[in-house]
Amino acid sequence: MPTVTPQQDSDRATRLGELREAVRRFVETHAIPSEDPALAHDVVRLDRVTRGLQARAREAGIYAPHLPREHGGLGLNWSERAQVLEEAGRSFLGAPALNCAPPDQPNMINLLQQGTPAQQQKYLMPLIRGEIRSCFAMTEPAPGAGSDPGMLRTVAERVNGNWVLNGHKWFISGAVGAAFAIVLARTDDGATMFLVDAGNPGYRLVRNIAGMDGYQIGGHGEILLERCVVPDDAVLGLPGKGFDYAQARLEPARLSHCMRFIGRASRAMEIAQRYAAQRDSFGQRLCELQQIQAMVADSHIDLHASRLMVRDCAMRMDAGEPVKHESAMTKVFVSEAVWRVADRAVQIMGAQGISDDTPVSMIQRELRPFRIYDGASELHRATLARRIFKSGMRP
Ligand SMILES: Cc1cc2nc3c(=O)[nH]c(=O)nc-3n(C[C@H](O)[C@H](O)[C@H](O)COP(=O)(O)OP(=O)(O)OC[C@H]3O[C@@H](n4cnc5c(N)ncnc54)[C@H](O)[C@@H]3O)c2cc1C
Repeated sequence: MPTVTPQQDSDRATRLGELREAVRRFVETHAIPSEDPALAHDVVRLDRVTRGLQARAREAGIYAPHLPREHGGLGLNWSERAQVLEEAGRSFLGAPALNCAPPDQPNMINLLQQGTPAQQQKYLMPLIRGEIRSCFAMTEPAPGAGSDPGMLRTVAERVNGNWVLNGHKWFISGAVGAAFAIVLARTDDGATMFLVDAGNPGYRLVRNIAGMDGYQIGGHGEILLERCVVPDDAVLGLPGKGFDYAQARLEPARLSHCMRFIGRASRAMEIAQRYAAQRDSFGQRLCELQQIQAMVADSHIDLHASRLMVRDCAMRMDAGEPVKHESAMTKVFVSEAVWRVADRAVQIMGAQGISDDTPVSMIQRELRPFRIYDGASELHRATLARRIFKSGMRP
């Protein structure tokens, strides 16, 4: 491994500082002013606004921070991404503008790691350029896969050298307007990932499932796969390895969510602090009241702890260490901590906190589902505890 000199280290830190500053400026100047409560749930307008922002992000030299340089990205390691994604995450539109929002971001990781050169040419390159979007389809209605992927009901069978997929997926983020889906389906040897074009006659987007979070590009789709025929080269990676690939994408995906949402919750608290510094009650500024002070202090504690946990995970990932255990603990803690922070921000701001006059209410609505997807808190706690007792791990 090539050694890094202190000078190179310091140059890299300087460049990261400048990049972080550039992302903050971009978010303040372009992303936040483009936010509009009327955009929430309007997937068509959201796409249009995002495309415009992506062009500006490219001009600003901050596009695709998560990708290697040879793929047009900024070549950042995980520790560096933590800082940039937090800045981008302050705005609902920041990460989509930089093209580092889910589900495209983890799909790019899958395609980079498992895609053949032909698949990368067809799917990854236009995805990177922001010409198309994608989605990742694993979850199914009962009795199919939810928290337990082992309950996967979508099947793929070999027929005349092709694969035929049948199944029902839902809550598939980004599905409306996606050019293709990475579909997880059961095969003889376990589960397999397939690249399915949205134009395939056997692939049908049934509806967009409206939810409490408003700024999801491409909404959350319900999809039917009915005798959906795909060729052999639609298999992503190796047949039978789908669960492994899904697990491998989840760790970086959930950590990236943590990074972006720390930014989002910080912004909610910034707004609440400004409110508390200006608003009077019974002859006192809100910020002089101990109960308000405690909520602000607890929020800073939550955010600080969240950043440290994310940073620790990121450093381990940069060192090539496994982070199964740490990323699960981090996801549980951060998803609950950022929710607490946003909830306190709402409380501090009184009625304004629940209105769409400020972004605080939407931030809270967006953070709530994070305790469910990428593994519900209860599931992570159960898995963590099982691993701890099985291995006799000391606290
Ligand atoms: C905003 C959002 C975006 C999403 N995007 C995608 C996407 O792009 N692609 C995709 O495939 N899926 C997506 N999902 C689906 C998500 O992955 C599932 O919601 C999640 O896996 C939980 O599955 P479920 O909803 O079926 O809940 P269930 O499995 O029915 O679980 C319900 C609740 O039961 C509890 N529970 C479950 N299992 C256990 C356990 N073992 N121990 C203790 N408690 C337990 C938890 O509290 C859990 O919240 C998204 C969901 C949301 C909300």
